[in-house]
Amino acid sequence: MPDIIQLLPDSVANQIAAGEVVQRPASAVKEMLENAIDAGADNIQLIVKDAGKTLIQVIDNGCGMTETDARLSFERHATSKIRQADELFRIRTKGFRGEALASIAAIAHVEMKTRLRDNEIGTKILISGSDVENQEPCATPVGTSISVKNLYYNTPARRNFLKSDAVEMKHIVEEFERVALAHSDIAFKLIHNTSELFNLKESTPRQRIVNMFGPKFNERLVPVKEETAIVKLSGFIGKPEYARKTRGEQYFFVNNRFIKNSYLHHAVKTAFEELISRDSYPSYFLYLDLDPSSIDVNIHPTKTEIKFTEERSIYAIIHSAVRNSLGKYNISPSLDFEQEDVFNVAPLPRDAEIAQPETVDFNFNPFDAETGKASASSGSSSFGRGKSVVSPGNWEDVYQISERSFESQSELIEADPDTSLMSENRNFIQLQKRYILTSIKSGMLIVDQQRAHERVLYEWALTVMNDQQGTSQQSLFPETIELSNQDCELLKDLEPDLQKLGFTVDSFGGSSVVINGVPAEAADYPVRELIEGILEQYKNEADSLKSASRTALAKSIARNMSVKRGRTLQREEMLELIDALFACEQPQVSPGGNPCILKFSIDELNEKFKA
Ligand code: ADP
Ligand code: MG
Repeated sequence: MPDIIQLLPDSVANQIAAGEVVQRPASAVKEMLENAIDAGADNIQLIVKDAGKTLIQVIDNGCGMTETDARLSFERHATSKIRQADELFRIRTKGFRGEALASIAAIAHVEMKTRLRDNEIGTKILISGSDVENQEPCATPVGTSISVKNLYYNTPARRNFLKSDAVEMKHIVEEFERVALAHSDIAFKLIHNTSELFNLKESTPRQRIVNMFGPKFNERLVPVKEETAIVKLSGFIGKPEYARKTRGEQYFFVNNRFIKNSYLHHAVKTAFEELISRDSYPSYFLYLDLDPSSIDVNIHPTKTEIKFTEERSIYAIIHSAVRNSLGKYNISPSLDFEQEDVFNVAPLPRDAEIAQPETVDFNFNPFDAETGKASASSGSSSFGRGKSVVSPGNWEDVYQISERSFESQSELIEADPDTSLMSENRNFIQLQKRYILTSIKSGMLIVDQQRAHERVLYEWALTVMNDQQGTSQQSLFPETIELSNQDCELLKDLEPDLQKLGFTVDSFGGSSVVINGVPAEAADYPVRELIEGILEQYKNEADSLKSASRTALAKSIARNMSVKRGRTLQREEMLELIDALFACEQPQVSPGGNPCILKFSIDELNEKFKA
């Protein structure tokens, strides 16, 4: 039998490679833009016709090429970017395979004009289907212009797979945006047919985002910054109140290269936990700079995945930096300002839960005199954070502490520190037994009483479980509760944490438990309902949270111990609740991720009144 193995001609090999590298017009766009960046350009234009099917042209003012390089650049594995294998671990350029231009030239008509800075005259080269048809000197500006025409002209099968112009153009814009966001120091322009879609001047990263996504973005961005030995992290996250139900703008850049990484996405997403509802997505623009030897980009030419050697540390750094920024900058409760209807405070729906009869005095404790340790006697009602946390034992001190912490937070509220919030003769109005209105120097606040109290209790519960011991109030009449076996098991699991919070749970005989004590903060609640409610809620929360059992417990506690809508509050109660709220780390949202506070500045009011 004769030998049958033959080497494929280059043109065929290139066509095969092209199938991988140039899956659609947007892939060619990406490669060409990246080449322009690698060439050191600071001005790049992308001109596209018919979503790239007719023309993709990239014009840059980069270093340009010599006559020989111009020709060589279309050969497979021809690259100026690495010479030896070990350089693969030091790559700072986008390209390094020398495959893109060869692949593109195999399946299109290409015209390249290029000129070195020091040369008077440039060179022009025409290639179709890998064949050089012409090369000659030409007059052209410094830099390189590459026109790719009639993509897939010789591979009709692939051309037939292309989607509509609208879809292909969407992919092109996506690639363009990623590259332009990664390089705010470069000016970019994108023209499609006759319309100019982007014209981006060289700018700061923040300005680039605003220029691309619109002026509204400016106030939405919160800076993130962290520098460690492993990674330098910078960029922005979107404020939680702007998180959307659809996947919004989520960008990671590693050494100025856009990447996708679901693990790191998780790090950001969980940092927003409790701040946004579970089905919405935060937006972020995060730039990671790290030693090229600690990443592996050599996976697939068009893939945006990347491997990190220190993935876990990077996860932790991103998570804590985002968390930090949220805590630091997102104090201003300027939620939902754009909604006109926030003024029309809705009446309680007819079937709204009216949790407790109004006649109940929240602080009334019949055993006060006998026990001498009821919550009321310490001067702290159930609205505080819990005595063991802020807890000096008298109201004045609680007040002082929250004042201090609010002052330091309020420095971060834009330009207007609102210390008058603390003035002793503040007014409070309760609206619909649901909202608390209070004036501040710069305007007014509206607080949702139940959400605010949930936030206060939630942070209290977490603090107490993590490093303190709550105060338990021993019941004079311990209550025996019958539970299902499953709930009984669950209660046993939670017992150590519950005990820290101040619950005393005893004698697990069969499926009945005895509750001997509850947190001082819950002294006035019916014990059985409280325990059952907490278990029920916990099961719901833990289901969706899986790992974070303390978070789930804290949420359940907060939900079940909070003052509900429909409760009339006394002035002191409102005062204490609001103070406690502002002593929280994240006063602006409930543990469930909904706004607790709306703030209206005088300016906004004036504007509404056209004053
Ligand atoms: P790679 O980018 O992986 O090196 P390409 O096929 O994309 O491979 O490009 C091949 C070579 O052509 C590059 O290494 C570079 O030297 C040169 N080149 C391509 N585009 C440009 C450009 N716009 N300006 C200057 N040189 C370029
Ligand atoms: Mg390249």
